[in-house]
Amino acid sequence: MAGGLHPFHLETGVWWDMNTCPVPPGFDPRHVRGCIKSALEKKIGRPSVVSIYALGNLEYIPRDLLEMISSSGITLIHGLRNMMDFNGFLEEWSDNSMDTTYTMVITDDYGIAYPPLLGLFEFSKLCAYPKDGRLIALANQSNPRHRVLPCDFVWEALLSDNYADTTDEMNSTRSKPLYGSKPLYVCNICDTYFEEEFSPHLKFSTHLKGEGHRTKLFDIAARDSSNGELKHFCQVCNYPADVDFNLRLHNQSEEHKLAAKKAQEEDNCESSNRVGSGWRDKKQSLLNEANSEDH
Ligand SMILES: [Zn+2]
Ligand SMILES: [Zn+2]
Repeated sequence: MAGGLHPFHLETGVWWDMNTCPVPPGFDPRHVRGCIKSALEKKIGRPSVVSIYALGNLEYIPRDLLEMISSSGITLIHGLRNMMDFNGFLEEWSDNSMDTTYTMVITDDYGIAYPPLLGLFEFSKLCAYPKDGRLIALANQSNPRHRVLPCDFVWEALLSDNYADTTDEMNSTRSKPLYGSKPLYVCNICDTYFEEEFSPHLKFSTHLKGEGHRTKLFDIAARDSSNGELKHFCQVCNYPADVDFNLRLHNQSEEHKLAAKKAQEEDNCESSNRVGSGWRDKKQSLLNEANSEDH
């Protein structure tokens, strides 16, 4: 049987938005996979073959956290840019799936939990929303205009309620390959894959800081149509973002804060030099005046 899957098995594809549903502080990230699997099994009533894809702007998520998540068998996808990108991943996943499939989205982003998009696919849908998020509030309202999928799980509760049921099954099951390859990491901005055999953790984090990736970011970043200037740009770090959300993530990052602090210190230093030179100029002109009065 291809991939060792039994035809009577169910299959579930899980799309986890790490930006709006992060791993809660103090929670062991290596157990996220087990918690999701356990929660699905209880909900569906039987085990399923679970593939989990963690999505989002992964650039400012600590490397050790990503490594632990990746090592538990979750594929990480950086830079999901829009609904069409997500649609592409769903299509790829569903094209290679068995007849009986579920999909689960874990997000507080309407663009990912967008009912018209998910409605294009025949699989059964499940949703997890964060407890204080926007979408759970909408899902709990009966107004059909809000058009969000019902909330099946609250993200934080899913993790805490299923923690005891997780096992140390690290590396035993990997998410299903996408696009015929077995990536642990995907950079969707550059369409680049990092596979298991080639020290992917290090290569991925190096890639995100590399020149090639930065150049690609400049290419895709939104620009003002009237003057061609970047719409979401950090001048301190020379960093272009494709959307405002990603610029905000950048501005909150340690990398940006350090660069801003350094720039501020340099600024202060320069202005104190200016003050110093101004004082010297003044002193010189007073001396000149005094000298001219002497004569
Ligand atoms: Zn890249
Ligand atoms: Zn910056």
